[in-house]
Parts: sequence; C-alpha cells; structure tokens
Amino acid sequence: MDLTRNVNSDPRRAIPSVNRLTDRVRGAAPEIADWIPARAAQRAIDEVREQLMSRGESAVPLEPADIEQQCLDAALDHAAKWAMEWPRPVLNATGVTLHTNLGRAPMAEGAAQAAAQAAMGYTNLELDLESGERGNRIASVTEKLCHLSGAEGAYVCNNNAAAVMLALNSLAAGQEVVVSRGELVEIGGSFRVPEVMKKAGVELKEVGSTNRTHAHDYASAIGPRTGMLLKVHRSNFEQTGFVKEVSLAELVSIGAEHGVPVVEDLGSGSLLDLSSVGVPTEAHVPSRLQMGPDVVCFSGDKLFGGPQAGLILGKKDSIALMKQNPLARALRLDKMALSALDFTLSRMLDGSAPDTIPVLRQLMLSQKDHEARTRRWAERLESAVAERGGSLGVEWVEETVPVGGGSLPGFDIQSCAVAIKAQVSASQFAARLRHAPVPILSRIRDQRILLDLRAIGEDQEDDLIQGILSALH
Ligand SMILES: *Cc1c(COP(=O)(O)O)cnc(C)c1O
Repeated sequence: MDLTRNVNSDPRRAIPSVNRLTDRVRGAAPEIADWIPARAAQRAIDEVREQLMSRGESAVPLEPADIEQQCLDAALDHAAKWAMEWPRPVLNATGVTLHTNLGRAPMAEGAAQAAAQAAMGYTNLELDLESGERGNRIASVTEKLCHLSGAEGAYVCNNNAAAVMLALNSLAAGQEVVVSRGELVEIGGSFRVPEVMKKAGVELKEVGSTNRTHAHDYASAIGPRTGMLLKVHRSNFEQTGFVKEVSLAELVSIGAEHGVPVVEDLGSGSLLDLSSVGVPTEAHVPSRLQMGPDVVCFSGDKLFGGPQAGLILGKKDSIALMKQNPLARALRLDKMALSALDFTLSRMLDGSAPDTIPVLRQLMLSQKDHEARTRRWAERLESAVAERGGSLGVEWVEETVPVGGGSLPGFDIQSCAVAIKAQVSASQFAARLRHAPVPILSRIRDQRILLDLRAIGEDQEDDLIQGILSALH
C-alpha cells in the first residue's frame, strides 16, 4: 500500500489514535501523574489536526512518521508543562518592583502568614466575640484605612477594576459620566474605561480632545443627566508636548458648583508620603482626598504594597451607597486578602512599613547601599564563574528602572545592575536563565543581560549565582 499517497491526499490519516499516543506519552514519561497522558495526547492531536487542515494544497508532502512524531512532541510538551508545580517561584532580576507578569506586589512576610492562618483555620472574620453576634468583616480594615488617609469612609473589594465598577454603578447608574478623552485609557488585561462604563450601566460622555481638556469642557458637558465627573489616572503612559488636563482640585470645584460627585480612579496610590524618595505627590492618597473628591480608588497590590484589592476611600454617603449595592457582595474581598490587608495597614500605622513591606523597602533602598550590595554580589559571581572555569563578561552599570505595574509612568528609579555578556546572544542567554532551576527574569540592553538585585532577597543571592552558572553550559 502506498501510504505516502494516502497521507498526501489526507495527511490527517497519519495522526495516531488517542490510545496509541497516550501509551507513547506514558512510555516516554513513566513518572508523570495519571491524569496527564491521555489529556496531553488529545490536545496534541487536536492541534496537529488543525495545523494539517490549514496547510495549503501546494504544501510539501509529509511523511506519516513525521506526523506521528509531531503529535508525540506536542503531547510531551503539554505533559511537561502540566506536570510542573504552578506557580513556580522565580527570581525577579529585572529591578522592576511591580512586575505584572510576576504577580505584582510581593506581600510582607507577616501579611502572607496572616493570609495563611486565615486560610487554614477558623477566625472571627464575621463574628463579634463580645456579643457572639455576627460581625462586620471589613470593620477593622476600614477603620485603619480611614485613620491613615483622613477619609470619612472606606470600602474594600476584589481589585481596583471592581472598585471602579462599583463606584460607577453605585453613584451614577443610568446617568452620564463625564470623562476627558485623554483619560479613556486601557490598562493591561482588558480594562478599558469605555467598556467598563458600559458594563457598569452608565453612559460615557467624552469631553475635550486626546491631548487637551479644559475646565470649560467639563462645565459645558454637565446637564440634568450628569451623574459623575470621573478622573482616570494615566498610569501606564505619559503625555507630553501640547497637553492640558484639568486637575483634581479644579474638577472638584466644577462638581461642587453643579452638585455632581467627583470620583478619581487613581490606579496606584500610597497612604504614605513617599516624596522623600522622589515619588510624585499625585500618588499620595491623603493629598488627593484633601482636594475634596467624593471618592478615590486604587489597587492594593501596586504602590500600596499589599494583597490584590480595590481600596475605596471617600465621603460617607458615597461609601454607603457602594456598601448597599448588591454588586458589592459579588465583588467582595476574600478572607485571605482581608487578613493580609489588615496586617499591611497595621504596619503603616505602627511605622514599621518601610522595613516590612517589600514594595516600600525596594522603593526606599538607598542607591549607596544598593550599589555596595551589587558590587559584592558581582565579585561573588565572578569568582564562582572562574572556579568553574567558565567565561563571562561581568560589568557594573548604572541604570534607571520603572516602578512598573501601571504605576508612576515617567518616574524611574535610579538603580544599578550587573551587566553580563555570555558566549551566546543576549536573548538566547535570557532564555537559558528562564530555564534555570529557579527561573531568572532579566532585562536585555545593548546585547547584554542586566541583572538588578533590587527585587532579589538576600536569601536568593545564591540561587541567582547558581542559575547563572547553570545557564553557562
Ligand atoms: C491598575 C489600574 C486599574 C486596575 O486595577 P486592578 O487592581 O488591577 O484591578 C484601574 N485603573 C487604573 C488607572 C489602574 O492603574
């Protein structure tokens, strides 16, 4: 029988059966968990079938053995991925504190412990121990949030996207919400202001132009159907040149004049004043609140340095409307995040935040200390490489890094890094580093790999060296 001809008339005939491929996966990876081989085989077969169907008439003929091998390779790739622990700890040598792909803000150790304790046992999460009656699960964190920020009221929910949704729906459902065209932003992961507004049940009223919006643009857009003036922070891009935006303070006075609430989606904010390390004051939530908006909301896991959460601060009446909204229950914060949040707030209240909260520690790290540590580590790296008889160009460089994660565009931190040059290309070496026993994430500049220790713990320094050694071969 002429198999080749068969295959060329319909190459899908060479695809092995699920059973056969499952057996081959099991044979090649006998230690793999039971659930994986058949699932990986089915997935690989579906993919290869799709690829074959999309081949043009004139494509090069395929050998049946190649098709089966292609199925096996694809199945083993899936199997290897699924067998791996997930998520795996990685070494963040990018110097970027809030790295969205790496889980954004690392929490304080105590915050993580508080979350674990709440997760594993029973707590008085919603119980008043005094009366034995049902308690309020957010009372502790809202008290602390108000004290730290000066706000009249506070509410917390799942993340800032949820906070914006809740604010829009609670304060302006069925009404118009006025936003500058320069602030109709998209945040990574499909948070787009116009779409969020539609889903929140409000009508978008755009004003101004992409680069310039004036106070009179807002004022003249206000009518009987206006339910809110919304300011959205441009947290992942900057506008320069012929630009004009209306400040929050101005917006508040326009809102007051017309009796319309003003809400700010700040995105990334801190309750602590970080101006001493150069962080722009626009990120200081208490200062924003002093300008008098009805509500300011921001993320728990950006500059704030806590768990994923949406933190909502503002006037009592506005907060009350959000609490009463049935959506609030759907967006409520879970017990682990609440516990971690409470711990984080307590550290801000007792003054130990700069030492305990990783985001703050990284931001406040002095350039002198960072440089000294980096030089010491670079020397250790060089002697470890020499000991192995390896070869690696190691240099010390000054650089700047963004804070990252939709925070403070245009504000870069003065930093330093170790630049290494291996015998393979920088992108090849970066890929090898990602395959280190503890995967290493680096940055590439001028054909060199940059390793910044800012987001690397003292206890991770050896792993970083071991990972680099493993990538040399
Ligand atoms: C990051 C950000 C959001 C989304 O916050 P999450 O906590 O990720 O849901 C919304 N708006 C702005 C302006 C942001 O920067």
